[in-house]
This record gives sequence, C-alpha cells and structure tokens, in this order.
Amino acid sequence: METMIAPVFQGEGRLTYESRPLPQLKDRADVLVRVQACGICGTDLNILATPPAHNATHGIVIGHEGVGTVLEIGDDVRNLTIGDRVVIAPRITCGKCAYCRAGLDNQCLDYNTIGTTVDGAFTPYLSAPERALFKISDAVPRDDAVLFEPLSCVVGALARVPFQPGNNVAIIGSGPMGLLFAQVLRAMGAGRIIMSDLVSYRLQFAHTLGVDVVLNPADSDVAQAVKAITGLGADLVIDAVGNQMKSAADLARRGGHIILFGLRPHDTPAVSQYQITRYDLTLHGAFVGLKPFTQTIKLLESGRIQPSSLITHRVPLSELAAGVELMRSGQAMKVIVETQETEAK
Ligand SMILES: [Zn+2]
Ligand SMILES: [Zn+2]
Repeated sequence: METMIAPVFQGEGRLTYESRPLPQLKDRADVLVRVQACGICGTDLNILATPPAHNATHGIVIGHEGVGTVLEIGDDVRNLTIGDRVVIAPRITCGKCAYCRAGLDNQCLDYNTIGTTVDGAFTPYLSAPERALFKISDAVPRDDAVLFEPLSCVVGALARVPFQPGNNVAIIGSGPMGLLFAQVLRAMGAGRIIMSDLVSYRLQFAHTLGVDVVLNPADSDVAQAVKAITGLGADLVIDAVGNQMKSAADLARRGGHIILFGLRPHDTPAVSQYQITRYDLTLHGAFVGLKPFTQTIKLLESGRIQPSSLITHRVPLSELAAGVELMRSGQAMKVIVETQETEAK
C-alpha cells in the first residue's frame, strides 16, 4: 500500500507526523488531489493555540487553503478530469437544511469543513468531494492560486456593499485579509485606501504594496486623519480585526457602510448605538460569502491582482510548526507550506 507522511492534529497545539495510507475515494463523487501548497491561515493559528480558539477534530490533518492537481476521480465526478488544477472551497454544506434550501448556504446548520472537521490540505494527497473543488487555470501562478480561499471570503464580503469606483476606503487591520481587501478594492477602482494597524511591520508591508496611507493608532488619531484625507470620512470601512466596531463607526462618513469581517468570538466591543442611528451607518456582518468561488477564480485568472505579493515565507511540510510560529511572530505576512517537498513552483 502506498503511504505518505502527514502532520496530524492531536489537540492542545500538538502536531505529530504520521505515516498514513494514500487517501482513497470514499464516495463516487470524490476526487483524489495531489496537493502542491497550502496557506497557513489565522484559523490554523487559532486551532493550534492552547487552549484552542477554534475547535478542530483531533486526529485529522488541518489546512484549508490548498491548491493541487487531480490525480483520480470517482465515477460520478462530472466537471473535473485527471490533470486539472484545483483549489479548495473548504465548507461542505448539507444542501438540505432550511438555510441551504434558502440559498444562504454560508449559514448551513450541518456542515463539515475541510481542514477543521475532516482531513485538510497540509498533506501531499487529499481526497475531497468534487463540489468542494474548483478548477483554476494552470496559467495562474501557484502562489496566487494558493490564496484562493481567503480571497473568496473577501470577494464574498464585498458583494454585500454598494461600492462605487472612486469611493474612499478605510481598512482596520493590515494583516493578510486586510491587504487582500486593499488589493481587490484597488482593482475595483477605489479612491484613497487608508489602512491602520498597531504593528509597524504590517504597516510597512502595506506601504510597500502601494496602499495610499498607513496609520498607527498608537501615534496618530486615525479618525481625524481619515477625515482630513477624505473630507467627510470613508465611504466604506472594513474591520479586518473583528473587535473594532467602534473605531470603524468613527472612520465612516455619514451614510457610510461598514463590513464587519474579522472573527473574535469572545470579544464584546462597546459601541455607540446612537452614532449608528444618528449618522445612518449600515453595518454588514460578512461570513465566508455566498458562493463567491466562480467569481474569485475569474478574478485570479484575470491577473488583475497578485495575492502572492503577500507571501513572505515558504516552508516544507516537515516545517509546518515553524511556519505557524513565523505567522505568530508578527514578522511574517503570509506563510505557505509546500506539500510536495521536491516540487518546483
Ligand atoms: Zn483561511
Ligand atoms: Zn445546510
């Protein structure tokens, strides 16, 4: 039997490298993927924290930002063939609950997530249902394709707001997600893009990527600066942190829109309800998006944005834990894991 070595999540922040048989197709609609690379996500850091800040099943392989090629297909697979390049849309929804039936599948009541509840992509080989895989052109560089999943969340969130070319945008949080928002909004014709973060490494990074203005709330009044730059305040504000609702409201112009994107389940930020009502602010909670996948593929295939510019480090699968530490250090932006250690890009 053919085997592979993969890091298995054991709970309490532990990963152990185990020899496992190559995954088999368990269902006629399954696809065997030879994984090439998988990004390390904030969710993975949360899963591997002690105590964990995000639950994952013990005994599985984690990782959900994968890109690879199709090696084998089940008899019922219709839209993929051997050799196709694919990326992963990790949530496998039930298709049957009231939310799925209403088209709100991001609110599915009975779902699995690749890399959280079932085996993920920090592995050389992965078996996954066809509907969790999307074909992407070989012409897209591997390191752009590997950021498909986080990019799809950004595309999904932006579908909620009435954004217009020329709109000024303030983004709180200059990590990978904030920077993906900046890249997409730039491509959509944003006016000024202003980003804030407490970590100077991240601000420097944003500056290098061409973000118009970067601000550190530790040494400037961000609300005042946004007002000075935009006149009235930002047309669109994005909280890419997850507990910045109050600051977000302070940065928006009257009648502006705010996307609440980051996920911090334990934080309960205070907010002025009066301010939201009096100034006609519209808040949009945005979780993973409603089928943003095909659109995200088109965006990547257009070549109009280069998410790979966020990647600062590439580590082999044997160094996954070191990659996680790099992300935690605050001195790396995006770290990707190369799952076929001998393979060229
Ligand atoms: Zn992710
Ligand atoms: Zn469902």
